[in-house]
Amino acid sequence: GKITIAIDGFSSTGKSTIAKQLADWLDYIYVDTGAMYRAVTLFAMRNNFISSEILDSQGLISSLENISITFKKNQKTGIAEVYLNGENVEKQIRTLEVSEFVSPVATISEVRKKLVHQQQVMGQGKGLVMDGRDIGTVVFPDAELKIFLDASAEKRAQRRYKELLERGDDILYKDVLENVIERDHIDSTREDSPLRKAEGAIEINNSEMNLEDQFHIILQ
Ligand code: C5P
Repeated sequence: GKITIAIDGFSSTGKSTIAKQLADWLDYIYVDTGAMYRAVTLFAMRNNFISSEILDSQGLISSLENISITFKKNQKTGIAEVYLNGENVEKQIRTLEVSEFVSPVATISEVRKKLVHQQQVMGQGKGLVMDGRDIGTVVFPDAELKIFLDASAEKRAQRRYKELLERGDDILYKDVLENVIERDHIDSTREDSPLRKAEGAIEINNSEMNLEDQFHIILQ
């Protein structure tokens, strides 16, 4: 039968790369929950709930009902892309600016409640690979397979830096490293659903591991 695979871990550990590959191989649905928190953050930025480095949580909470997040497959690549109120924002949510505010936004309980509910509905009764920070602990605690990814902060920042450069972003390695460390800190110390290894999760440290090796371990 079809199972639920939960992939959690620190920032830029390659969760989505491995999750996409698994979903493709198993013919399962893939859901990138980080994209949903990023889309809420983009909405907050555009509607001035984030300005001069200050997050207006109450304002954002009272606007949550105006946020609709959906996924639609890109017909060319076959990969699901995220839409905010009907607009494809796949590119806009990957900037360093969104990365800088997404973890504070993700500490807001009302935001988490809305997204967790949507994630549970999306995944119900389907062959599913879902990646995030709280999938094995909160969204699908009964998932048949749970993976927890980790790697050194430097390795993770190097990978993310390379990705952003390839997109043509004008950024510094030290800012990417700082962001990765800051997000890990906020994600693992927040009160609501802190990032941690779920009970029964298999931990993989991929600092010195290629994608093929990880894929092999997970399939086994
Ligand atoms: O996975 P990604 O790095 O795109 O996630 C961006 C941010 O969204 C994380 O740093 C975290 O703050 C938040 N997040 C979360 N719970 C999830 C997925 C993402 O809090 N399930």
